[in-house]
Amino acid sequence: MSDEDHQDSPAERKMRFLFQLRSRGVTDPRVLAAMERIDRGIFVRGQFADRAYDDTPLPIPCGQTISQPSVVGLMTQALNPGPRDTVLEVGTGSGYQAAVLAGLCRRVYTVDRHRRLVQEAEAIFHDLGLPNITAQVADGSRGLPDQAPFDRILVTAAAEDPPGPLLAQLKIGGIMVVPVGQSDAVQTLIRVTRSETGFDYDELRQVRFVPLVEGLGQT
Ligand code: SAH
Repeated sequence: MSDEDHQDSPAERKMRFLFQLRSRGVTDPRVLAAMERIDRGIFVRGQFADRAYDDTPLPIPCGQTISQPSVVGLMTQALNPGPRDTVLEVGTGSGYQAAVLAGLCRRVYTVDRHRRLVQEAEAIFHDLGLPNITAQVADGSRGLPDQAPFDRILVTAAAEDPPGPLLAQLKIGGIMVVPVGQSDAVQTLIRVTRSETGFDYDELRQVRFVPLVEGLGQT
């Protein structure tokens, strides 16, 4: 979508960004409003900055990726967080998804195994004035037992199966959205809903995420 001869104004860029989201199935007005408020350009730096408003995943430090905006929108829509909810995000990455969630719920806990990513995301949350996000270095495959249980859990890295500790940290009535499958193949985004008696699983769509890796990163 980038047009090298023509510089969009910020307003045009935003309209095009939102149009793209809608045309790819992001229709929940609350999600669209939350994504309108958070400028993805702040989370993408260096050589890829000029592609921040394209509907494409982009590289970020530590060999990771910021997800495609329409996938962020569709996952947020499937998660359906309420204004009083406490949400755990596993995989802070750039911090973009957490910032979008922060506009839709009471509190977001976001964890990443890379310290550098957590520190850079925290600085952005501070600059944007988003006090309801707590970012932490942790192995998210174990969840965040000190803050559990959660109303909603969003995993933004692919697991072979929904991790047991995350299922255990979901409230009854809670929803978890997680990509599952082998890391080097196409994965399936699933929504897990916890009921009084167990877990219900819905398959949503095919996606491609970096793998959920156990343990902490070197940087
Ligand atoms: N949600 C991010 C994109 C995440 S990319 C965004 O909006 O930009 C996936 C992230 O998951 C990477 O940053 C990776 O470091 C992290 N990750 C992978 N395994 C993890 C684990 N076990 N615990 C915490 N974070 C993990």
